[in-house]
Amino acid sequence: MGSTHSIIAGAGPVVPAGAQSRLLFERAQRVIPGGVNSPVRAFGAVGGTPPFIARARGARLWDVDGKEYLDFVGSWGPLILGHAHPAIVEAVREAAAAGTSYGAPTAREVELAELVTSMVPSIEKVRLVSSGTEAAMAAVRLARAATGRRKLIKFEGCYHGHGDSFLIQAGSGAATFGQPSSPGVTVGTAADTLNARYNDLESVGALFAANRGDVAAVIVEPVAANMGTIAPGPGFLAGLRRLASGEGALLIFDEVITGFRLGLGGAQGLFGVVPDLTILGKVLGGGLPIAAYGGPADLMDRMAPVGPVYQAGTLSGNPVATAAGLAQLKELAADPLIYRRLDERGAALAAGLGELAMAGTVNTVTVNRVGSLLCLYFAPGPVIDWESAARADTRRFATYFHAMLEQGIYLPPSQFEALFVSAAHTEEDIARTLGAAKAALAAAPATRQ
Ligand code: PMP
Repeated sequence: MGSTHSIIAGAGPVVPAGAQSRLLFERAQRVIPGGVNSPVRAFGAVGGTPPFIARARGARLWDVDGKEYLDFVGSWGPLILGHAHPAIVEAVREAAAAGTSYGAPTAREVELAELVTSMVPSIEKVRLVSSGTEAAMAAVRLARAATGRRKLIKFEGCYHGHGDSFLIQAGSGAATFGQPSSPGVTVGTAADTLNARYNDLESVGALFAANRGDVAAVIVEPVAANMGTIAPGPGFLAGLRRLASGEGALLIFDEVITGFRLGLGGAQGLFGVVPDLTILGKVLGGGLPIAAYGGPADLMDRMAPVGPVYQAGTLSGNPVATAAGLAQLKELAADPLIYRRLDERGAALAAGLGELAMAGTVNTVTVNRVGSLLCLYFAPGPVIDWESAARADTRRFATYFHAMLEQGIYLPPSQFEALFVSAAHTEEDIARTLGAAKAALAAAPATRQ
């Protein structure tokens, strides 16, 4: 059994997971590729066995061996109120008891769509789907149909789900595993995807100039959260808006992470730049599978059944999922101070990590933060795009990660994922995390350049 905990070359020892997790991981690997249903969960980037989770509440997780963790993953973003929030659990229970799926319209879909259109500046009409991937694929199809063009400009290190068009120099798990472009994506698809540099308007302008009249859309994470956390520089989003409009292309904001996290109006509300189409997910579903895409009515009415652009889904607008999403959005809307609190918690954590980094032992650490999203890079700053993020020392990250996990702090198991603070994290939780980080950073000194 002891042999199941591995060592990353050059990094410190990996914390052995509990016996039950190790057994489950062995069984899982026999019947599920890599033992997981989404790659980053396998701990491939940090080594070792992932704890299998048994239950969660508030800011805490418990694994099948009974170990408790303070959770900064939050299911990768959806759980802005923390785990098992009573209002969401009750809504789910009630909805499930009335039937789990009908494949027919329901009142809650209307209510959720009304809420979304009232909150997100650019959205007049919205279509609910089941995953961010699905929403992104549909938004791009709609953009191509509306413009009669085929090419797409995206940014290195941004992630928009696993649709073929997006797996060209993508972020998130694709970046983590050094597979920025996936086999199985056809040459034709790859040729239609153009990659620009985040925070670099010139790179976008150059792509437009070289592909005049062919670009259907620019798709961007308005805050990049799949190569850590990178804020848009001053004028970047407004510049994209100007360039896209000037070239007759649509601007798509992928707000799967930022939507309802940086404020009820998402990043577009925060930065005051209005895209043509918006993609939502994560927080929108309260931890159940919902995502959405939306925009102006005339554009959205190109979708079937009004228009000719096809998109459909057996479980789209699922009654249990819409109940969870509604409950979460209503909780967020009912608390006018919640985003300020999330921002303060995020700020306290980022400031504390920054101070530890400055304290001497580790001087090649950069902390980036936007609201409750943050990332500690084992790289000199500034980290402003994929190139600067990719300089991070991932072996040091792995050592730091395991030193935190051992102390019961559950971080995203990859250098290139954002850390999510929730409303369930208390000041004491942040203080405890910083105490653990002090020891973990000391365990991960700079070893190479
Ligand atoms: N867009 C962004 C910005 C994301 O972060 C993600 C997932 N992390 C997706 C799209 C894809 O969403 P899903 O995993 O629900 O398909």
